[in-house]
Amino acid sequence: MSPSPTGEVLISSERLAGRVTELGAQISRDYADKDLVMVGVLRGAVVFIADLLRSLDVACEIDFMAVSSYGSSRDSSGVVRILKDLDDSITGRDVLIVEDIVDSGLTLNYLMRNLRARDPASLEVCALLTKPERRRVDVPIRYTGFEIPNTFVVGYGLDHAQQYRHLAHVAELPEDVDPGSGTR
Ligand code: 5GP
Repeated sequence: MSPSPTGEVLISSERLAGRVTELGAQISRDYADKDLVMVGVLRGAVVFIADLLRSLDVACEIDFMAVSSYGSSRDSSGVVRILKDLDDSITGRDVLIVEDIVDSGLTLNYLMRNLRARDPASLEVCALLTKPERRRVDVPIRYTGFEIPNTFVVGYGLDHAQQYRHLAHVAELPEDVDPGSGTR
């Protein structure tokens, strides 16, 4: 694969677009008769949810949450603070959490427990990326974009110290950059 201004390109923009289209078709079929609300997790999922939304052909609302997990971006602690809550109620609605990447699973595990307590009609997860090797808690991911190896990635909304979100592809960080200092 070709090098990029960051590290090695892991997933090209063409592959991302193709997979997002597939996920959109699958979600459209599954939610044809439902009351879908997609909940984007700020800030990393912004690019993904924007593309996913446009690949749907069912009615859908979107809302956003921002959370910060204590610890470095590389190793989340599982203790999560809500920085921005949903604007609207999800009680009785069909909620799909849209995440950028599931690493240990601790953030998502917290989010699912928090949102389930609000009595949605259903609660599922769509994650663009997942790193199965790093999982510390089992979280049910209904829709997965790509499984990736245990490496720190940026681009397509994902950052390192707030940089690289604009890249149209997903790339590895170069080896000389310490991933430990990043943020959500
Ligand atoms: P978890 O709680 O699953 O360990 O962490 C999930 C969050 O950690 C993601 O939403 C993301 O903000 C951050 N994260 C985990 N792995 C990566 C990565 O490879 N790159 C970036 N940019 N963020 C990551």
